[in-house]
Amino acid sequence: MGGVDCHLHLSRWWPDLPVNSYGPTVDYSVRGLLRELDGAGVEVGLVIQLHQAPGADEALAEGRQLTEESRGRLRPVVTVDPTKGPSVVDATLARWEKETGIAAVKLFPGYLPFYPHDARLGPVYEFAHRRAVPVMIHQGDTMDRGGLVKYARPIEVDEVAVRYPDVRFVLCHFGNPWMEEAAELVYKNENVYADTSGLLASPTAHYFDRMIERCRRRLLNSIVTVGSPDRILYGSDWPLESIATAVGLVAGLDLPEADRAAILGGNARRLFRLDRGTPGS
Ligand SMILES: [Zn+2]
Repeated sequence: MGGVDCHLHLSRWWPDLPVNSYGPTVDYSVRGLLRELDGAGVEVGLVIQLHQAPGADEALAEGRQLTEESRGRLRPVVTVDPTKGPSVVDATLARWEKETGIAAVKLFPGYLPFYPHDARLGPVYEFAHRRAVPVMIHQGDTMDRGGLVKYARPIEVDEVAVRYPDVRFVLCHFGNPWMEEAAELVYKNENVYADTSGLLASPTAHYFDRMIERCRRRLLNSIVTVGSPDRILYGSDWPLESIATAVGLVAGLDLPEADRAAILGGNARRLFRLDRGTPGS
């Protein structure tokens, strides 16, 4: 069975994303993405929708199209901006209720000014509980200089992880730069996972080779702190990182082969229940 990339972006609502990508050659399309996944032995990918989409209907339509075009290999992750108020949250949830293909919900604290324990998110967590879909939470550094990283610290997820023990949470980017803090959250809470996406800078960065080595050391330390590979998920944050580089980061970890395989796919298959097949197929 091929791997699973739990953290990809591909949306017409963020057309300039390739500008910030790993290189000028990135083919920012379904075809281009599938080719990169194929090249790195990754079978399935979760495509995270962005809060820039004009509304829930447009975002869901785009998600369905990605699934169709990729013959089920790309699965949509939906998002909502709680700062838009309860009526927007409620209307969005009403749309999600009717959708069967949702792989997960993503929240963007840091990019948007709210904490994961914001009371306005109560209905979102209840939806996640009812439908058994994991909640992915942006963590750590933001590409947007106007973002506030105080909203995106792993410690801020602890409260909801405890309040909603049946909801599974994913700390995106392993909480970078707060990777040890993220490791503590995963260690402490059985319903908390962490992904390895977006940990590397652009390959044009001056110290890129050394950054990969340093990042791999930090990642390994954090996984050892957790004490198990079972709730660690491979992700790339494509097109910000190439799939090959992101897979290479995990494949080069000094861990038993079975543990690396779990991180590269097995854990995500279980968490996102990817073997249920795609709706309608
Ligand atoms: Zn991302």
